[in-house]
Amino acid sequence: MIVKIFVIVSTMTLLTGCHVLEADESDQEVLEESAQDRIDESEELLTDEEKRQRQLMDALPKTVSSSDWELILVNNDYPLPEQFEVELKEVEPEKWIDERIADNYMALRDMASENGHRLFFASGYRSVERQQANYDRSINSYIEQGHSKEEARALTEDYIAIPNHSEHHTGLALDIVDQEWIADGNGLVPEYDTQMSQQWLIETAPAFGFILRYPEGKEEVTGINYESWHFRYVGKESAVYIHEHELVLEEYIELLESRENKSKLTEQNG
Ligand SMILES: [Zn+2]
Repeated sequence: MIVKIFVIVSTMTLLTGCHVLEADESDQEVLEESAQDRIDESEELLTDEEKRQRQLMDALPKTVSSSDWELILVNNDYPLPEQFEVELKEVEPEKWIDERIADNYMALRDMASENGHRLFFASGYRSVERQQANYDRSINSYIEQGHSKEEARALTEDYIAIPNHSEHHTGLALDIVDQEWIADGNGLVPEYDTQMSQQWLIETAPAFGFILRYPEGKEEVTGINYESWHFRYVGKESAVYIHEHELVLEEYIELLESRENKSKLTEQNG
């Protein structure tokens, strides 16, 4: 729209000749000013949410794609893909994770230990069969306590993902607390966030590619209750970005996809 106006003005200048050039130039200045005003106005018209979205898009890591293996999304809506395969590496006795992230985890663990936090690796890769067994055991125990089948299922799904929908199947998720916490008789409970090691992990893990996956306040987006112990590998660049902007993986992938859709449109139009 604005571009069109400039074209008309400059055409008119040509047609009307030199003697009115001065007047036309000042007209053009006025037009340019008002065009700038309009741009400023449209910036002002953006809601805070739209401004934030724009900032988030601009700051996205340049080389990351939503289809990268580190960003696989498994949640209540997205099951583990059929034919999913992962090469595992044992990083603690009888604890396995995706071999591609083993070095990152071990480096994080060593750094933690240098800082006085002895990590306790509670859970890594879990097969679908294993998840099913955990799930069934939890439901049965709630039923034994007198809950109905529906209640037992709801209570179970608060903390145990539906088999085939657990991020632990990917080999990219780790449940971590610290050894003192376990020695004091605690388990995987939200209150683990009262511990120094947990705060340290939240701040430090992104540099190694890990994020706290189910933060407090994002339950609606993740579909999972706050888990102060569940970390997920997403790659360093993505982890730093997600942590810095206080996002969750679902929101991050949505941003990446919207950038990819935009660039697809540009390609088609170009
Ligand atoms: Zn977990």
